[in-house]
Amino acid sequence: MDLVPSPSSKFLKVVCEQCKNEQIIFDKASSVVKCLVCENVLAEPTGGKINIKSKNVKLLS
Ligand SMILES: [Zn+2]
Repeated sequence: MDLVPSPSSKFLKVVCEQCKNEQIIFDKASSVVKCLVCENVLAEPTGGKINIKSKNVKLLS
């Protein structure tokens, strides 16, 4: 998943591939983001931009 680089932080809507729960995450989260329903890992921090595991991601404007 390649997102257009941007200097500003963004909120993303990620759909859990395991249970289809939709969750809003912050693209500069500093810890692992897990699905609140099934605890599947949705995203991991990489030191900068977050690495999102799901392919179903929408940018919130
Ligand atoms: Zn889930």
